[in-house]
Amino acid sequence: MDKIAQTLFKAEYNKLVKKDKHALAALEDELMKLFQEFWMRTDIPSVRRRVRSLDGLPLNPSPDTHYLTVFGVRGVVRYPLTSGEKIYKIPVFSFNMNDWKDHWTTLYLIVGKKTVTLVDSGTHLSEKSLEEGLEVVRVFYGESVHIEDIDNVILTHAHFDHFGGLHYLLPRSKAKLWVHEWDVKTIEDFPKEKSQGREQILRFLKQAGMPAKRISDFMEMHGSSKETFPGYPVTHPFKDGDRIVENYQVIHTPGHCPGLSCIRVGDVMFLGDQVLNDVSPHQFPKIYTSGSGLQNYFNSLIKISSHSETIRVGLPSHYGDIPSIESRAMEIMSEHNQRIADIMKDLDQPKSLYQVSDDYYRFRRGRELRGYDNLLAQEEIGAHLEFMIESMGIVKVTNPEALGKNSEEVVFYQKSI
Ligand SMILES: [Zn+2]
Repeated sequence: MDKIAQTLFKAEYNKLVKKDKHALAALEDELMKLFQEFWMRTDIPSVRRRVRSLDGLPLNPSPDTHYLTVFGVRGVVRYPLTSGEKIYKIPVFSFNMNDWKDHWTTLYLIVGKKTVTLVDSGTHLSEKSLEEGLEVVRVFYGESVHIEDIDNVILTHAHFDHFGGLHYLLPRSKAKLWVHEWDVKTIEDFPKEKSQGREQILRFLKQAGMPAKRISDFMEMHGSSKETFPGYPVTHPFKDGDRIVENYQVIHTPGHCPGLSCIRVGDVMFLGDQVLNDVSPHQFPKIYTSGSGLQNYFNSLIKISSHSETIRVGLPSHYGDIPSIESRAMEIMSEHNQRIADIMKDLDQPKSLYQVSDDYYRFRRGRELRGYDNLLAQEEIGAHLEFMIESMGIVKVTNPEALGKNSEEVVFYQKSI
């Protein structure tokens, strides 16, 4: 989330929770600084319109005010369900990125008929912003919920920005822990999974043809950046079609992560990272993590579309709400097809995955890959090449012996049509 959105969150919180009459004056000063620095990336008129609307709100506005149904207070938006439950969107800070934006994860609090459930948990760095979000839920929306009152935590999938927050949530509450059975091992044996993952990444990068110096820099960075997470017992593993907690429906959508599951509550669908606005969710080749791969992901896009006709709104774990899950799913599919077509244009000669990714991002997207982005690019393009070989049959490996399980030889790809 960019710094301008975070600054607006703070002003909303100060004005509507802390009842600070000077909240807007402080906002003005901070915005001017950000506008000066980031004017190229900012839609200043739309920020101005939002500030004018916020300024026009009384200190105790009704939650049904248009501004609050769109933006909420500090990003906390209430979604009433026809069946009487309430859902609160609570965006939380997950980790620092750069001077323009940070990584945030959107958690959802479901106040059900008998139980309080949190969907996802953020990272170990999310505690303060979850506390702040719950304060908005209590003070502004009048719902008495503290971390200690949470009965269930449902994880949409086992990626760190979704489960890392168990680190502070589980010791403080008696919450039951729910996750798809394919992701149980990652949550329970995280240290072991991490060290095995490290070996896999090393072999993957060697087969990709990444220069040795880059590999060693990368492995060093990878070793130091991963936080220690002890692992927690999953009390309630679930599978596709299960009804969990208060009859919430599980729709298993593997691809982005093996256990990724969307959860339907009334006419609302929690999407995890299955369908997102602004970006197409990151893909991994299935040879590298089984339950991943573009074929699985495409099947899951179709599956979630087929469940979407009676859904009022899709609520993803990052970025904005998704009013039409099916249209966004089809858009994402066509972005992948475009990427496939672009990769083919550069595959007349045999090339390593490292060369294919570097060429793709450099010449087709205008980006030079650095640091962590480099690994993400190998994974993303690797998932595409695997799909183009196995499912489409339009690319071949020119030295198949390099694909052996323990081989560290560089694999070369070329188009076959
Ligand atoms: Zn995520």
